[in-house]
Amino acid sequence: MPQTPAYRSPWMDADLEMYRDAVRRFVAEEIAPHQERFARQQHVDRAVWHRAGELGLLLADIPDEYGGGGGSFAHVAVLLEELARVGENGFGASVHQIAANYLLHQGTEAQKRKYLPQMASGRMIGAIAMTEPGTGSDLQAIRTRAELRGDGYILNGSKIFITNGSMADLVIVVAKTDPAAGGKGISLLLLETQGAEGYQVGRVLDKLGQKSSDTSELFFDNVRVPAENLLGGVEGRGFAHLMTELPYERTLCAVTAIASTEAALRLALDYTRERRVFGKPLFELQNTRFKLAEVKTQATVGRCFVDACVQRVIDGTMDADTAAMAKLWTTEALGRSADECLQLFGGYGYMMEYPIARLYADARVQRIYGGTSEIMKEIVARSLERNGA
Ligand SMILES: Cc1cc2nc3c(=O)[nH]c(=O)nc-3n(C[C@H](O)[C@H](O)[C@H](O)COP(=O)(O)OP(=O)(O)OC[C@H]3O[C@@H](n4cnc5c(N)ncnc54)[C@H](O)[C@@H]3O)c2cc1C
Repeated sequence: MPQTPAYRSPWMDADLEMYRDAVRRFVAEEIAPHQERFARQQHVDRAVWHRAGELGLLLADIPDEYGGGGGSFAHVAVLLEELARVGENGFGASVHQIAANYLLHQGTEAQKRKYLPQMASGRMIGAIAMTEPGTGSDLQAIRTRAELRGDGYILNGSKIFITNGSMADLVIVVAKTDPAAGGKGISLLLLETQGAEGYQVGRVLDKLGQKSSDTSELFFDNVRVPAENLLGGVEGRGFAHLMTELPYERTLCAVTAIASTEAALRLALDYTRERRVFGKPLFELQNTRFKLAEVKTQATVGRCFVDACVQRVIDGTMDADTAAMAKLWTTEALGRSADECLQLFGGYGYMMEYPIARLYADARVQRIYGGTSEIMKEIVARSLERNGA
């Protein structure tokens, strides 16, 4: 019987293979040896951001005229896959990348030229602040207020659960510029945090997983943001910007989720081949074989869909409904797979020194951030209402 050929994503090519080698070396040298320390200190060292910038890994899909790598979404996918391979879910390169895409697609020429090169070098870390203590899923209900006074906006309010929150030099803040106008009264402001009076980072939050990420609270007390830092230069476009950029973010979530499912499978396969129960390798028990066969099937089905989604982002044809389905399916599949794989480790699976335990904990939030599974279903359901099946 012929062997199943090793699967290669259709969007991979020789250049991307070389890029993957460089990313894998970076991850092996700069991240993997320090993961426990990063988790303890609740952030990844700034030096790692600088190194990633030097190697051209941070804004790989941003055109080179703005300091980016001039590559495609495939380059970004490779970085996230390699981070997931070693179970590093706390390095906020993904959010940084998303923030850069807001600038690229929605920013003015001056905003792109000012910020993208600094973000590409890792000298400026990006964050996006949408969620507030009172609202997350219902973005139109945010209360952070930006009032235009003279040549600047005065920002008041607070945000919670912000990835890269304590490290961020540039925060894209979602705020109401016209509270009476509903979704049309929302704008995005580019806040430079260094020396910003009235800006305060609150607690770095203690989470179930993704420990190396500095998920934080942010407070704005009469913070002044120059008027030229209104993203795109036109008030009231914030909600439309979010709706345009969220499919990119959700496809990135799907890439990480499927790569994490593959990582869980590899961990469980290695372990069950080594671990002996009742005189034979755990892998030889039918239950183990069936469970791993199920996970492999989930990983393969999901991988094909995610690869199609990656191609659609590369081609510029990704839509909100497909991205919602990708995030929903892959993160739910990851939850099931991580749970089944952990079970095969017995008590060791519950020990944080085992990567499967960290993977399981890191996986949980993927069904929550970037839009919860319920919100993804709502988006898909609305598309059924609009377009039928
Ligand atoms: C680790 C981490 C990192 C994060 N990073 C960021 C970040 O960088 N920037 C940022 O802005 N936010 C970030 N978030 C916030 C995240 O996006 C929100 O937590 C998420 O969108 C849910 O919002 P919420 O927590 O307010 O929950 P809620 O909106 O209060 O939801 C509570 C429950 O109600 C359900 N629900 C809500 N509406 C509906 C509906 N219409 N139909 C059915 N069910 C519904 C939800 O699915 C959920 O189960 C992060 C969160 C975490 C945990």
